[in-house]
Amino acid sequence: MDVYGLLGNPVGHSLSPPMHEAGYEELGLDARYVTFEPDRSAIEGAIEGAAALGIAGLNVTIPFKQDVMDHVEADELARRIGAVNTIDFSDETPTGHNTDAAGALRALREHDVTVADRQAVVVGAGGAGRAIAFGLADAGATVSIANRTASTAHDLAAEVPDATGHGLDALPSLIADADILLNATSVGMESDETPVPADLLHGNLAVFDAVYRPLETRLLSDAAAVGATTVDGAWMLLYQGVEAFELWTGRDAPVETMNTALRSRLSSTHD
Ligand code: NAP
Repeated sequence: MDVYGLLGNPVGHSLSPPMHEAGYEELGLDARYVTFEPDRSAIEGAIEGAAALGIAGLNVTIPFKQDVMDHVEADELARRIGAVNTIDFSDETPTGHNTDAAGALRALREHDVTVADRQAVVVGAGGAGRAIAFGLADAGATVSIANRTASTAHDLAAEVPDATGHGLDALPSLIADADILLNATSVGMESDETPVPADLLHGNLAVFDAVYRPLETRLLSDAAAVGATTVDGAWMLLYQGVEAFELWTGRDAPVETMNTALRSRLSSTHD
């Protein structure tokens, strides 16, 4: 049996086990996906132990995405983003990858949102914002990053090809010219708040929200009301998992089955 898992703290309510295990079952793979909550001080030992035990792959979530980088051979994209969310143990040295960027891009692509040569505004410059900004720039978008702490946006923009950094006060002019608007802040999570005032939205936008609790955030309902295309955060969650599944197993993931498992779990839990 192949064992996969998730390293994070807390991970008790993670949606990854049902999503991945639905995929294994659909493909008839003899595999399990389990969660691990080590102390931060035990991360190095956890990765060495996983390798020694023959664990096939680990996802990594908050607060360990940066910590694990010292203990794996991170690929170029993960190094640029500065975070690893997927570890593959099939080589002698564990390799580190970041599937959040590809997950966000695949979510957009599956909604027929063109990224190349488009103007994209990323609100937020934390972990999700970094992955999304690098992914969009690599896919040919011109990226503007706006963040509450403007200096963080400036710092990130200096690393992302052809990007510009701004405070949130720049949102009106940035969004007026934008094709794609992406929320990578935690605003709207478990609340009715929005990071972007509704009157800035327009019908030519595709609006993506990384927040997935609730699935329909205030931002997305405001966007739908002006006729914008909307993409909810569960799509990114799904496709970052799909990318990891495919990297580990070498098989095409059963996307519909994994999506059904994820969404049924999301609609039945509130935490
Ligand atoms: P993070 O690293 O802590 O970054 C949080 C970001 O939100 C920062 O840019 C922060 O701005 C901003 N922010 C927080 N409170 C704010 C407020 N009241 N007003 C304006 N901006 C505010 O978190 P993260 O890991 O990037 O996660 C961000 C969100 O994305 C979370 O809701 C998370 O669940 C979601 N996410 C979803 C997926 C997915 O697969 N769908 C993947 C990763 C993350 P400052 O720099 O000014 O503090």
